[in-house]
Amino acid sequence: MKSEFLKYYNKRLHLEDIDLGEIAGEVGTPCYVYSRRSFEQAWHQYNSAFKERAHRICYAVKANDNLSILKALALIGSDFDVVSIGELHKVTAAGGNPAGVVFSGVGKTRGEITDALKAGIGCINLESCEEFERLESVAASLGACVNVAVRVNPNVDPKTHPYISTGLKDSKFGVPIDDARELYQRISASKWLNPSGIACHIGSQITSVDPIIEAVRHVVDLALGLKVIGIKITNIDVGGGLGIDYAGETPPTIKELVDGLCQTVPEEFKLVLEPGRSIVGPAGLMLTRVEFIKKTKDKNFVIVDAGMNDLLRPALYDGWHDVLTHCENLSGVEGEICDVVGPICETGDTLAKNRRLLVSEGDLLAVVDCGAYGAVMGSNYNARLRCAEVLVDESSYSVVRRRQTFDSLISDEKDVLIT
Ligand SMILES: *Cc1c(COP(=O)(O)O)cnc(C)c1O
Repeated sequence: MKSEFLKYYNKRLHLEDIDLGEIAGEVGTPCYVYSRRSFEQAWHQYNSAFKERAHRICYAVKANDNLSILKALALIGSDFDVVSIGELHKVTAAGGNPAGVVFSGVGKTRGEITDALKAGIGCINLESCEEFERLESVAASLGACVNVAVRVNPNVDPKTHPYISTGLKDSKFGVPIDDARELYQRISASKWLNPSGIACHIGSQITSVDPIIEAVRHVVDLALGLKVIGIKITNIDVGGGLGIDYAGETPPTIKELVDGLCQTVPEEFKLVLEPGRSIVGPAGLMLTRVEFIKKTKDKNFVIVDAGMNDLLRPALYDGWHDVLTHCENLSGVEGEICDVVGPICETGDTLAKNRRLLVSEGDLLAVVDCGAYGAVMGSNYNARLRCAEVLVDESSYSVVRRRQTFDSLISDEKDVLIT
């Protein structure tokens, strides 16, 4: 991990000022551990890069929706981007203001739209003409006015993993940019909908500013075209998507991205950003303990107590995470090439392939850079309990999600058990 908050001190791996061995001893493994200073600093980097320019930073909740992380971000002034009503409930439960929330997603139900309008949502990002009709009918029945942005699909290749590309013309996301003008005319004719913005989000883990800037140019052209026909847009929402350094990638810095955006978007528009991964990704790691070293003729396996139900990214996207030992290896011995695998009955349950590690049974490992799209994708597969999450804040730490209990795992089935 390249986080400045993770380092060896007295031969032991520390996050901020805390020895990770202390957390593993008290909380158990597997568990996620987050650095509060790391994600707050990333948020402040976004915020200060705008200088005097009007902007809003809407943290993308789906990257990590832990209530304490949402609360910490709300406290420093963050707004939020949600993709389900559940995420909106989490934001409000954490003290976030619904008026500062943008609601994206291709499949919002009538129920979700109704609840979002009743909560006083800041903006609904529409992803289709069909959704426009649904939103208008819900708003009319509630007698509620609502700000909307159309998420346009600019047909730009973000050059990232296909599963996290969202702005190509065959993608399910957004409205083809050429169809957007007609939709804005319908929105502006509506008594209930206010066309306040244009949104786009072309993908995730993007490692160059070029595709983002290219997409935003198309959005600016659309905004200026709408102005000519009397439709005044105030916000340009450029989505999230900035990549992080997992395996030696060299993404632009937050400042480079924001500078590029400020140069591309005329001052008359307020810039809205929806970063997720670049805020929480480098701030989190997963602690796991070695159960066995299994050697076969062809391979060495380090079998650990965390699996794909705890961290899905390697199985789902071929995601690469560096694996560090808790004890600094100063022996001069390099260790052998091995695969770090979990206990789950799936070959896909491999957390890291072909790594050189000097480890033995009982050792503690940190799988790094998994603050984003880590714990949120956890599941109970193989009847495994959802793991604990811990927040480190300088020289103190606290559990911000308890390890699930077996009672909670079975309660929804036990009450309705057949006789
Ligand atoms: C996922 C998502 C984001 C955040 O993407 P990151 O790559 O995590 O920054 C922002 N906006 C929308 C609409 C999304 O779906």
